[in-house]
Amino acid sequence: MSIEPTNDLRITAVKVLDIRFPTSDELDGSDAVHVDPDYSSAYVILETDGAHQGHGLTFTIGRGTEIVCAACRSLSQGLVGRSMSDIVTNFLEFHRSLTNDSQARWIGPEKGVIHLATAAIVNAVWDLWGKIENKPVWQLVCELEPRQILELTELRYVSDVLSHDRALNILEQQAPHREKRIAELRRDGYPAYTTSAGWLGYSDEKIRELCLQGIEEGWNHFKIKVGQDIEDDRRRCRIVRETIGPDRHLMTDANQRWEVGEAIEWMKQLVEFKPLWIEEPTSPDDILGHKAVADALRPLGIGVATGEMCQNRIIFKQLMAADAMDFCQYDSCRLASVNEILAVMLMAAELNVRCCPHAGGVGLCQYVNHLVMIDYVCIAGTHEGRVAEYVSHLHEHFADPWRQKAGAYLLPEASGYGITMKPDSLHRYAHPHGSVWVERAAK
Ligand SMILES: [Mg+2]
Repeated sequence: MSIEPTNDLRITAVKVLDIRFPTSDELDGSDAVHVDPDYSSAYVILETDGAHQGHGLTFTIGRGTEIVCAACRSLSQGLVGRSMSDIVTNFLEFHRSLTNDSQARWIGPEKGVIHLATAAIVNAVWDLWGKIENKPVWQLVCELEPRQILELTELRYVSDVLSHDRALNILEQQAPHREKRIAELRRDGYPAYTTSAGWLGYSDEKIRELCLQGIEEGWNHFKIKVGQDIEDDRRRCRIVRETIGPDRHLMTDANQRWEVGEAIEWMKQLVEFKPLWIEEPTSPDDILGHKAVADALRPLGIGVATGEMCQNRIIFKQLMAADAMDFCQYDSCRLASVNEILAVMLMAAELNVRCCPHAGGVGLCQYVNHLVMIDYVCIAGTHEGRVAEYVSHLHEHFADPWRQKAGAYLLPEASGYGITMKPDSLHRYAHPHGSVWVERAAK
């Protein structure tokens, strides 16, 4: 059994762009650790000898983008001349040619800058494949046979927790229900929550206003940033809880601010506001630390959420198998695209962890809009207790922006992976020569 693209295109050039938005001006995206983020993307365009281009990006927050762009250029050297049929029919081989590039893997493997760059490139391949088939990427995956999905899934180094047979079993169990679930998603969408209200730099009035606006729009989950000052956090949590009422959900996010013991003590002082979870309480690499926080806070009704800086599926395996996370917030650009994310979703299904993917930034909502649909239709089979992040910033730059209603992502209809930015945005926000940055430098 093999997967052939219906129209075989050859990659003729790879363009890498450094796109940055001056979001630090308004403190959009500010948290306890990232105090002046300029939301950015290392943006990859695969040019072809046919009618389509593949667009992919990875999200960063400022000057670091130049390093990721350099890694994208280095890693993509072997792509020109390759055909999509060659790539897609041996997708895992292609994937490993990037993650195991013998002269690049020393600065990984499968972590940090080199993995972010891999994600940008592989995301562009998925986008191109979707465009060739004239299907959104979620649909492309949901129409594959269970065995074909597994052919695309990177299970290397996690097979001790999830064997090939067990993964196949999960996919086969869900397969008969796919059509019904797609119809449900088409009608109701997939549950989402908003982080737009709770950036650390916002005033009390702005938080209250944004919560009220969120309720009006139909949101049921609200997340705020915590971790700089306990009295400030108590005041802000109280504002949110009073504004959203007792039945809607409040989540908290510390962005790795604390030591392990500090995380536990800090959150005990926020228990009265009934947070559903504490997100990134400490270093994203600290599996034992997350386990200690989870053990201490679970009896108080607070779960542990983490994953936006979890560097690969192998770390996720440990967090899940150690019972150190309740909510898995995989990131669509930190993991090396759909191939690795499928493995994480399958492990989560096997180990009863709920996937609530990280989004926001630049383009992450675009990707998540596809990924949650794949999870619901093909893997988890439920969205109960699950909710995908959503942030309203910057979507105006995309050619086919996410569609959302009353606290839910709607099914994407446009072909590809939804990440293609408008040419005008690519032009104006390119760093340092786009007009936005030239004008700022002249001030
Ligand atoms: Mg977060």
